[in-house]
Formats: sequence, structure tokens, C-alpha cells
Amino acid sequence: MIQALTAEQEIIFKGYESLAEKVLTGQRLFFEEGVSLFRNISLPAVGYLANIRREAVSNHKAYYIRNQVINYSNICINRCSFCAFHRKRDTNGAYTLTLADIEKKVRDHLHEPISEIHVVGGLHPDLPFSYYVDMVRLLKSLRPQAVLKMYDAVEIDYFSRISGKSVERVLEDLMEAGLQALPGGGAELFAPRVRKILCPEKISAERWLNITKIAHRMGLKSNATMLYGHVETPEERVDHMVRIRELQDETGGILNFIPLPYQPLNNALKGKRTFAGDDLKVQAVSRLMLDNIPHVKAFWIYLTPPVAQIALNFGADDIDGTVIEEHVAHEAGAETRSAMTVNELKKLIRSAGYTPVERDTFFREIREDR
Ligand code: SF4
Repeated sequence: MIQALTAEQEIIFKGYESLAEKVLTGQRLFFEEGVSLFRNISLPAVGYLANIRREAVSNHKAYYIRNQVINYSNICINRCSFCAFHRKRDTNGAYTLTLADIEKKVRDHLHEPISEIHVVGGLHPDLPFSYYVDMVRLLKSLRPQAVLKMYDAVEIDYFSRISGKSVERVLEDLMEAGLQALPGGGAELFAPRVRKILCPEKISAERWLNITKIAHRMGLKSNATMLYGHVETPEERVDHMVRIRELQDETGGILNFIPLPYQPLNNALKGKRTFAGDDLKVQAVSRLMLDNIPHVKAFWIYLTPPVAQIALNFGADDIDGTVIEEHVAHEAGAETRSAMTVNELKKLIRSAGYTPVERDTFFREIREDR
């Protein structure tokens, strides 16, 4: 179906009329067109198109969630160059939460109607697989109503290695204890050239994609992330998005795509902080390339609240949640706070001109505040 561009749209998209027409008629963009969005088309024009797609999906709503983040240990056998969170055992600042510590953190917030607990941590050299299963069971017993979104594909691979069980058996044990979703971290950026610089010890892109696919086939939902703003090219960003899109075509298990800007402090990579304009372009291109993923997240902790607000006009329809306590981004220099109240989140959304809607992990709507 061809839809003629208006005179105004023809001026905005001069030279890229067919790409604009494809977006306006809901057609899929090719890899080369994604690269063009980054390299050749202005930020306002890309944002204009992304906003059309965003409004078609989310109808001027912006989602937030009441969640609690728990980072159980920062001790990790890997040494990813972008990561400021990891420590070696017995070094300054290394910590591991006992199950009793975790119980206290959850009990301290039992009076709040939290709908999700999000758990990730380092690849600990000594903890047995039973620690991770018991943690799921403990959280389920303390918070039976909350969705447990725990352990990314890198951790699942590690549990398989330390337990000698297959990925399927690991997931079966965790699901039997109460696991309901995977957070989608650890994808970083898929291009092998970039992985060699960022995370040579981490599982490959293929392994990440395969574990996520297995999880989806077993009935788990997940998010998918992309770490950007370090050493990658626009082509490598679009390649990452296309591989995520292909996975979603196969399984339909991805709820939310989360572009995460690299945070430059206290890590070996010693890069620079991204500019807001680049952050917004990534949000917008994500919305346009990932036509089969319903939601794109502008995570306020990584982007800052003002940029997250603007991102709602550039394709994003979710800003994440109350969080309560966060270590991974803050160790790397995130200057945001590590918690926001529900009223602050709603105010943030409303003052950006959108309708705040509280959601759960699966984007089931809990409350809409007109
Ligand atoms: S990013 Fe994850 S796997 Fe890599 S060093 Fe940090 S905690 Fe370990």
C-alpha cells in the first residue's frame, strides 16, 4: 500500500520518501534503512516517525512499574571492560548478600504494593546453584503476588556450568521455584568485534540468543537490552536490533526493548558519556526497527529523568519504576537517584504530556491515572 506523503512530510523526508512511506504504512525496515536512520536522517525527522509508531501502539500512555531491584553480589569471575560493578573476591567493596540479607531487604518494603522483583548479580566463583534456586523460593514465599524477573542469560549459562545441568533443567528448577521472567541483560552489543573489547569472557551473542529462545519456548517472557555509546558503529547497533527482531519473530517472547547508554566512570574502558541527542536517536531507531516488540523503555536511571521524559516523544512508552536500590549503573557514574516514588514517576510522565499507567512485568495495566 502506498501512502502519499503530505507536502510537509515531503520536505522533512526529502531523499528518504520511500523509507518514510514504509513507516507510515506499517512496513518493516531493512538493515540499510536502519543505518540510514542513524547516519543520514535528522533527529527530529527520525523522532517524528518513531512517535507515529509509538502512538499507534501505546495511544499516548506511558508506563511505569512498582518494582524492587536486588543485586545479590558484585563478585564476578568476568572482567567486562565497561563494568564498574564487579569486584574480585576479598577486594575492597566486594559483597554477597545472604538469603537473610535478601529477606530483610524485601521485608523492609512489604508495606508497598510492589508488583515485580528484579534480581541480577555477578558470576560468583563459590555460590552453589542451590543459592539461586533458594533465593527464588524465598522471594516467592515473601511476595507471592509479585512477578519474579530474575537472572539474565549470562547467569543462566553460568548456573548450567556450575551445576552440570542443561539450560533446560536449570530453567525448570528455577521456574518450579517461582521464576516468571528474565530481565534481558547481558546482551550488551552482539557484534564480535565489540564483544572482544567489551566482554571477551562473556557468552557469545549466539549463546545469549539461544538461551533466551529456550526460555521463551519454556513459557518464560523476557526483556532484551542493548548497551550502546562505547565503541560500536551505527551498523553494529542496527545489526543488534535486527538479531533481536529475528528472535522475536521466532518466539514472540520479548516484552520490552531496553537501550542502555554506557556509563563511563570507574571502569577500564574509559569512554565518554553519550549526548542526549544520541540517546534519543537510539530510542527512536529502536522503535522503528523493532516493529514486533510492543514496548521500548527509556530507563530513567540510565538516561536521567529529563531525557527519559523527552524520549517519550521519540518512540519510548515506558520509563521503568520505583527501583528502590540500584548498584550496576551507579557504580559506573549514573548521576541519578536510585529510587523514585510512584507520585514522582506519575508527575514525570504527566509533565511530559502523557497519561501515566501503572503496569506489571507483562504490561498488564494495573492503574491508569488520567
Ligand atoms: S557485566 Fe556482569 S559479567 Fe561482566 S564483569 Fe560486570 S557483573 Fe561480571
